[in-house]
Amino acid sequence: MDDNQYAPDNIQRQALKTWYSDGSSLREQRIHALLGLAGETGELVDLMKKHFYKPGRETTQDKVKDELSDVLYYVAVLSHLWGFTFEDMTAHLAVKLAGGHGWRNDGHQPGALDEQNSAD
Ligand SMILES: [Mg+2]
Repeated sequence: MDDNQYAPDNIQRQALKTWYSDGSSLREQRIHALLGLAGETGELVDLMKKHFYKPGRETTQDKVKDELSDVLYYVAVLSHLWGFTFEDMTAHLAVKLAGGHGWRNDGHQPGALDEQNSAD
């Protein structure tokens, strides 16, 4: 186990400690986690909707981080319920990125706050 408490697999283990299965079947837990993921994704979408279309309701970096963290919680649980870890996912993503898979692969490396993003 990685000593870094923020290491992805450690975060996944922490998330699972809060997951209350109540003896439900694996199928029910997967559905529950999927609904949670959809709900948190909806909260993120609503935050962005207000940010872009409702004057005076602009969001902040902290609020976006908070909602994305909620999404990550359910990704942690759902991935576990399907039998893999965050590290499994990052390894899989690394292979996909290396292979292109339709993602931009022209050497462009935007920063989180590059000029185009900060204008939003
Ligand atoms: Mg939330």
